Amino acid sequence: MTATLIDGKVVSDKLLLELAHHVRGLHLRTQQDPGLAVVLVGDNPASRVYVESKKKACAKVGINSYDYRLSEADGEGALIELIQHLNGDPDVHGILVQLPLPDGFDDQKIIELIDPAKDVDGFHPMNVGRVWQGLSGFKSCTPYGVFELLRHYEIPVEGKHVVIIGRSNIVGKPLASILVQRGAGANATVTICHSKSENLVALTRSADILVAAIGVPGFVTAEMVRPGAVVVDVGINRVTDLNTKSGYRVVGDVDFNSVVPVAEAITPVPGGVGPMTIAMLIKNTVESFERHLAEE
Ligand code: NAD
Repeated sequence: MTATLIDGKVVSDKLLLELAHHVRGLHLRTQQDPGLAVVLVGDNPASRVYVESKKKACAKVGINSYDYRLSEADGEGALIELIQHLNGDPDVHGILVQLPLPDGFDDQKIIELIDPAKDVDGFHPMNVGRVWQGLSGFKSCTPYGVFELLRHYEIPVEGKHVVIIGRSNIVGKPLASILVQRGAGANATVTICHSKSENLVALTRSADILVAAIGVPGFVTAEMVRPGAVVVDVGINRVTDLNTKSGYRVVGDVDFNSVVPVAEAITPVPGGVGPMTIAMLIKNTVESFERHLAEE
Protein backbone atom coordinates (compact mmCIF):
# COMPACT_ATOMS: atom_id res chain seq x y z
CA MET A 1 0.00 0.00 0.00
CA THR A 2 1.12 3.55 -0.52
CA ALA A 3 -0.73 6.47 0.98
CA THR A 4 -2.77 9.02 -0.95
CA LEU A 5 -1.22 12.45 -0.59
CA ILE A 6 -3.57 15.00 0.98
CA ASP A 7 -2.55 18.15 -0.83
CA GLY A 8 -3.19 21.22 1.33
CA LYS A 9 -1.71 23.56 -1.26
CA VAL A 10 -4.26 22.57 -3.90
CA VAL A 11 -7.18 22.75 -1.45
CA SER A 12 -6.08 26.09 0.02
CA ASP A 13 -5.57 27.61 -3.46
CA LYS A 14 -9.08 26.54 -4.40
CA LEU A 15 -10.50 28.00 -1.19
CA LEU A 16 -8.65 31.30 -1.68
CA LEU A 17 -9.95 31.53 -5.23
CA GLU A 18 -13.53 31.01 -4.05
CA LEU A 19 -13.03 33.61 -1.32
CA ALA A 20 -11.58 36.10 -3.83
CA HIS A 21 -14.67 35.65 -5.98
CA HIS A 22 -16.92 36.13 -2.96
CA VAL A 23 -15.05 39.26 -1.80
CA ARG A 24 -15.33 40.76 -5.30
CA GLY A 25 -19.08 40.22 -5.14
CA LEU A 26 -19.27 41.90 -1.73
CA HIS A 27 -17.22 44.81 -3.02
CA LEU A 28 -19.51 45.32 -6.00
CA ARG A 29 -22.50 45.34 -3.69
CA THR A 30 -21.10 47.50 -0.85
CA GLN A 31 -17.98 49.29 -2.17
CA GLN A 32 -16.23 48.00 0.97
CA ASP A 33 -13.43 45.49 1.46
CA PRO A 34 -12.39 43.34 4.42
CA GLY A 35 -9.40 44.56 6.43
CA LEU A 36 -6.90 42.48 8.42
CA ALA A 37 -4.42 44.10 10.81
CA VAL A 38 -1.24 42.06 11.03
CA VAL A 39 0.86 42.84 14.09
CA LEU A 40 4.42 41.63 14.40
CA VAL A 41 6.51 42.31 17.50
CA GLY A 42 10.27 41.75 17.37
CA ASP A 43 12.21 40.05 14.61
CA ASN A 44 11.70 36.31 14.96
CA PRO A 45 12.61 35.06 11.44
CA ALA A 46 9.91 32.33 11.38
CA SER A 47 7.27 34.87 12.46
CA ARG A 48 8.39 37.22 9.69
CA VAL A 49 7.92 34.44 7.11
CA TYR A 50 4.42 33.62 8.42
CA VAL A 51 3.38 37.29 8.39
CA GLU A 52 4.55 37.68 4.79
CA SER A 53 2.57 34.62 3.65
CA LYS A 54 -0.54 35.93 5.41
CA LYS A 55 -0.19 39.31 3.71
CA LYS A 56 0.26 37.65 0.31
CA ALA A 57 -2.90 35.61 0.85
CA CYS A 58 -4.79 38.81 1.75
CA ALA A 59 -3.65 40.44 -1.48
CA LYS A 60 -4.81 37.42 -3.53
CA VAL A 61 -8.29 37.59 -2.05
CA GLY A 62 -8.82 41.36 -2.06
CA ILE A 63 -8.42 41.93 1.68
CA ASN A 64 -6.64 45.11 2.79
CA SER A 65 -3.82 44.11 5.10
CA TYR A 66 -2.56 46.73 7.52
CA ASP A 67 0.95 46.14 8.68
CA TYR A 68 2.05 47.01 12.22
CA ARG A 69 5.62 46.39 13.34
CA LEU A 70 6.72 46.96 16.90
CA SER A 71 10.15 46.37 18.31
CA GLU A 72 10.68 44.45 21.50
CA ALA A 73 11.88 47.68 23.09
CA ASP A 74 8.50 49.37 22.47
CA GLY A 75 7.21 47.14 25.25
CA GLU A 76 3.86 45.59 26.08
CA GLY A 77 2.24 48.99 26.75
CA ALA A 78 2.64 50.02 23.10
CA LEU A 79 1.13 46.73 21.94
CA ILE A 80 -1.84 47.13 24.29
CA GLU A 81 -2.45 50.65 22.98
CA LEU A 82 -2.26 49.43 19.39
CA ILE A 83 -4.79 46.63 20.01
CA GLN A 84 -7.18 49.04 21.71
CA HIS A 85 -6.90 51.31 18.68
CA LEU A 86 -7.49 48.42 16.24
CA ASN A 87 -10.48 47.18 18.24
CA GLY A 88 -12.14 50.53 17.52
CA ASP A 89 -11.03 50.90 13.89
CA PRO A 90 -14.05 50.29 11.60
CA ASP A 91 -11.80 49.40 8.63
CA VAL A 92 -10.25 46.51 10.56
CA HIS A 93 -12.34 43.33 10.68
CA GLY A 94 -9.63 40.98 11.85
CA ILE A 95 -6.66 41.42 14.19
CA LEU A 96 -3.78 39.03 14.02
CA VAL A 97 -0.98 39.27 16.56
CA GLN A 98 1.77 36.92 15.44
CA LEU A 99 2.65 34.56 18.27
CA PRO A 100 4.77 33.77 20.14
CA LEU A 101 5.50 37.26 21.43
CA PRO A 102 9.01 38.05 22.65
CA ASP A 103 10.02 37.45 26.28
CA GLY A 104 8.47 39.97 28.62
CA PHE A 105 5.15 39.99 26.72
CA ASP A 106 2.19 38.06 28.06
CA ASP A 107 0.65 36.20 25.09
CA GLN A 108 -2.55 35.29 26.95
CA LYS A 109 -3.15 38.82 28.20
CA ILE A 110 -2.77 40.17 24.66
CA ILE A 111 -5.11 37.51 23.19
CA GLU A 112 -7.77 38.44 25.73
CA LEU A 113 -7.50 42.14 24.82
CA ILE A 114 -8.51 41.53 21.21
CA ASP A 115 -12.21 42.16 20.55
CA PRO A 116 -13.66 38.61 20.15
CA ALA A 117 -15.54 39.89 17.08
CA LYS A 118 -12.15 40.60 15.42
CA ASP A 119 -10.30 37.56 16.83
CA VAL A 120 -9.88 35.82 13.47
CA ASP A 121 -7.17 33.54 14.92
CA GLY A 122 -9.87 32.09 17.17
CA PHE A 123 -7.70 32.19 20.29
CA HIS A 124 -9.85 34.40 22.54
CA PRO A 125 -11.46 32.35 25.35
CA MET A 126 -14.85 33.65 24.22
CA ASN A 127 -14.43 32.05 20.77
CA VAL A 128 -12.76 28.93 22.18
CA GLY A 129 -15.67 28.46 24.60
CA ARG A 130 -18.32 29.12 21.97
CA VAL A 131 -16.78 26.55 19.62
CA TRP A 132 -16.64 23.95 22.44
CA GLN A 133 -20.32 24.61 23.09
CA GLY A 134 -21.18 24.15 19.41
CA LEU A 135 -22.10 27.83 19.03
CA SER A 136 -21.02 30.18 16.26
CA GLY A 137 -17.56 31.62 16.88
CA PHE A 138 -14.22 31.87 15.13
CA LYS A 139 -12.57 28.48 14.95
CA SER A 140 -8.85 28.48 15.47
CA CYS A 141 -7.20 28.37 12.03
CA THR A 142 -4.97 25.29 12.11
CA PRO A 143 -7.63 22.90 13.48
CA TYR A 144 -10.21 24.48 11.19
CA GLY A 145 -7.80 23.79 8.30
CA VAL A 146 -7.48 20.13 9.33
CA PHE A 147 -11.28 19.86 9.45
CA GLU A 148 -11.60 21.36 5.95
CA LEU A 149 -8.87 19.12 4.53
CA LEU A 150 -10.60 15.97 5.82
CA ARG A 151 -13.90 17.25 4.45
CA HIS A 152 -12.43 18.09 1.07
CA TYR A 153 -10.91 14.62 0.68
CA GLU A 154 -14.19 13.05 1.88
CA ILE A 155 -12.38 11.19 4.62
CA PRO A 156 -15.04 9.69 6.89
CA VAL A 157 -14.92 11.28 10.34
CA GLU A 158 -18.33 10.45 11.81
CA GLY A 159 -18.07 7.68 14.38
CA LYS A 160 -14.35 7.29 13.71
CA HIS A 161 -11.66 7.35 16.35
CA VAL A 162 -9.49 10.43 15.97
CA VAL A 163 -6.36 10.37 18.10
CA ILE A 164 -4.56 13.69 18.48
CA ILE A 165 -1.03 13.77 19.87
CA GLY A 166 -0.57 17.19 21.50
CA ARG A 167 -2.85 19.17 23.81
CA SER A 168 -1.88 22.75 22.96
CA ASN A 169 -4.42 25.57 22.92
CA ILE A 170 -3.68 26.28 19.27
CA VAL A 171 -3.88 22.78 17.82
CA GLY A 172 -4.74 19.74 19.97
CA LYS A 173 -7.54 21.05 22.19
CA PRO A 174 -9.35 23.18 19.58
CA LEU A 175 -9.16 20.37 17.01
CA ALA A 176 -10.88 18.05 19.50
CA SER A 177 -13.50 20.74 20.11
CA ILE A 178 -14.32 20.86 16.39
CA LEU A 179 -14.28 17.14 15.56
CA VAL A 180 -16.30 16.04 18.58
CA GLN A 181 -19.23 18.33 17.74
CA ARG A 182 -22.53 17.06 16.46
CA GLY A 183 -22.61 17.95 12.75
CA ALA A 184 -21.43 17.20 9.25
CA GLY A 185 -17.72 16.46 8.98
CA ALA A 186 -17.50 15.91 12.74
CA ASN A 187 -19.26 13.46 15.15
CA ALA A 188 -15.91 11.81 15.85
CA THR A 189 -14.78 9.97 18.96
CA VAL A 190 -11.72 11.93 20.01
CA THR A 191 -8.77 11.05 22.20
CA ILE A 192 -6.14 13.65 23.07
CA CYS A 193 -2.70 12.30 24.02
CA HIS A 194 0.13 14.30 25.53
CA SER A 195 3.54 13.98 27.12
CA LYS A 196 2.12 12.20 30.19
CA SER A 197 -0.05 9.72 28.29
CA GLU A 198 0.68 6.07 29.10
CA ASN A 199 0.75 3.37 26.41
CA LEU A 200 0.97 5.96 23.66
CA VAL A 201 1.59 3.43 20.89
CA ALA A 202 -1.51 1.41 21.83
CA LEU A 203 -3.53 4.63 21.69
CA THR A 204 -2.13 5.82 18.37
CA ARG A 205 -2.61 2.36 16.82
CA SER A 206 -6.28 2.52 17.72
CA ALA A 207 -6.73 5.63 15.56
CA ASP A 208 -8.67 5.72 12.33
CA ILE A 209 -7.32 9.24 11.94
CA LEU A 210 -4.06 10.10 13.69
CA VAL A 211 -3.10 13.76 14.09
CA ALA A 212 0.44 14.69 15.10
CA ALA A 213 0.93 18.11 16.74
CA ILE A 214 3.96 17.64 18.95
CA GLY A 215 6.80 19.73 17.60
CA VAL A 216 9.27 16.84 17.44
CA PRO A 217 10.61 15.99 13.97
CA GLY A 218 9.71 12.45 12.84
CA PHE A 219 8.04 11.56 16.18
CA VAL A 220 5.35 9.35 14.61
CA THR A 221 6.89 6.23 13.10
CA ALA A 222 5.29 3.37 11.15
CA GLU A 223 4.86 1.18 14.27
CA MET A 224 2.57 3.85 15.77
CA VAL A 225 0.17 3.78 12.83
CA ARG A 226 -2.55 1.19 12.24
CA PRO A 227 -2.36 0.01 8.62
CA GLY A 228 -4.99 1.89 6.63
CA ALA A 229 -5.20 4.86 9.01
CA VAL A 230 -5.26 8.47 7.83
CA VAL A 231 -2.33 10.52 9.15
CA VAL A 232 -2.43 14.30 9.52
CA ASP A 233 0.91 15.92 10.24
CA VAL A 234 0.55 19.38 11.81
CA GLY A 235 4.23 19.68 12.78
CA ILE A 236 6.43 22.37 11.29
CA ASN A 237 10.03 21.90 12.41
CA ARG A 238 13.19 23.41 11.03
CA VAL A 239 16.07 20.96 10.90
CA THR A 240 19.60 21.80 9.83
CA ASP A 241 20.37 20.91 6.22
CA LEU A 242 23.58 22.33 4.88
CA ASN A 243 22.64 21.21 1.37
CA THR A 244 19.98 23.91 1.20
CA LYS A 245 20.52 27.62 0.58
CA SER A 246 18.88 28.59 3.87
CA GLY A 247 20.82 25.96 5.83
CA TYR A 248 17.64 24.32 7.05
CA ARG A 249 14.72 22.25 5.84
CA VAL A 250 11.17 22.07 7.12
CA VAL A 251 9.91 18.67 8.31
CA GLY A 252 6.80 17.47 10.11
CA ASP A 253 6.18 15.43 13.25
CA VAL A 254 5.66 12.28 11.19
CA ASP A 255 8.46 10.15 9.84
CA PHE A 256 6.96 10.51 6.37
CA ASN A 257 8.98 7.87 4.51
CA SER A 258 8.29 5.11 7.03
CA VAL A 259 4.59 5.96 7.41
CA VAL A 260 3.69 6.36 3.72
CA PRO A 261 3.62 2.59 3.01
CA VAL A 262 1.36 1.96 6.02
CA ALA A 263 -1.18 4.82 5.92
CA GLU A 264 -4.16 5.12 3.62
CA ALA A 265 -3.71 8.88 3.26
CA ILE A 266 -1.22 11.38 4.66
CA THR A 267 -0.57 15.13 4.67
CA PRO A 268 2.95 16.10 3.59
CA VAL A 269 5.11 18.78 5.24
CA PRO A 270 5.42 21.28 3.70
CA GLY A 271 2.27 21.53 1.60
CA GLY A 272 -0.24 19.88 3.95
CA VAL A 273 -1.82 21.60 6.92
CA GLY A 274 0.38 24.74 6.72
CA PRO A 275 -1.26 26.39 3.69
CA MET A 276 -4.71 25.52 5.07
CA THR A 277 -4.00 27.48 8.26
CA ILE A 278 -3.56 30.65 6.22
CA ALA A 279 -6.63 29.96 4.07
CA MET A 280 -8.77 29.60 7.20
CA LEU A 281 -7.43 32.87 8.60
CA ILE A 282 -8.59 34.53 5.39
CA LYS A 283 -11.95 32.74 5.59
CA ASN A 284 -12.45 33.95 9.18
CA THR A 285 -11.56 37.51 8.15
CA VAL A 286 -14.13 37.45 5.35
CA GLU A 287 -16.70 36.03 7.77
CA SER A 288 -15.97 38.84 10.24
CA PHE A 289 -16.37 41.40 7.45
CA GLU A 290 -19.73 39.91 6.49
CA ARG A 291 -20.92 40.06 10.10
CA HIS A 292 -19.89 43.72 10.11
CA LEU A 293 -21.86 44.33 6.90
CA ALA A 294 -24.88 42.59 8.38
CA GLU A 295 -24.77 44.94 11.39
CA GLU A 296 -24.67 48.11 9.25
P1 NAD B 1 3.23 22.72 21.85
O1 NAD B 1 4.69 22.64 22.16
O2 NAD B 1 2.41 23.79 22.44
O3 NAD B 1 2.55 21.34 22.23
C1 NAD B 1 3.16 20.12 21.96
C2 NAD B 1 2.33 19.02 22.56
O4 NAD B 1 2.98 17.80 22.31
C3 NAD B 1 2.14 19.15 24.07
O5 NAD B 1 0.76 19.13 24.37
C4 NAD B 1 2.83 17.92 24.64
O6 NAD B 1 2.11 17.34 25.72
C5 NAD B 1 2.86 16.98 23.46
N1 NAD B 1 4.03 16.11 23.56
C6 NAD B 1 5.33 16.48 23.67
N2 NAD B 1 6.10 15.38 23.79
C7 NAD B 1 5.27 14.32 23.74
C8 NAD B 1 5.48 12.92 23.84
N3 NAD B 1 6.70 12.40 24.00
N4 NAD B 1 4.41 12.12 23.76
C9 NAD B 1 3.16 12.64 23.59
N5 NAD B 1 2.90 13.95 23.50
C10 NAD B 1 3.96 14.78 23.59
O7 NAD B 1 3.15 22.70 20.26
P2 NAD B 1 2.05 23.29 19.24
O8 NAD B 1 2.11 24.75 19.30
O9 NAD B 1 0.75 22.57 19.39
O10 NAD B 1 2.72 22.84 17.88
C11 NAD B 1 2.94 21.48 17.55
C12 NAD B 1 3.59 21.41 16.19
O11 NAD B 1 2.68 21.94 15.23
C13 NAD B 1 4.86 22.26 16.04
O12 NAD B 1 5.74 21.60 15.16
C14 NAD B 1 4.36 23.55 15.43
O13 NAD B 1 5.36 24.21 14.70
C15 NAD B 1 3.30 23.00 14.52
N6 NAD B 1 2.24 23.96 14.18
C16 NAD B 1 1.88 24.02 12.90
C17 NAD B 1 0.88 24.88 12.49
C18 NAD B 1 0.47 24.88 11.05
O14 NAD B 1 0.00 25.88 10.55
N7 NAD B 1 0.63 23.78 10.33
C19 NAD B 1 0.25 25.69 13.41
C20 NAD B 1 0.60 25.59 14.75
C21 NAD B 1 1.61 24.71 15.13
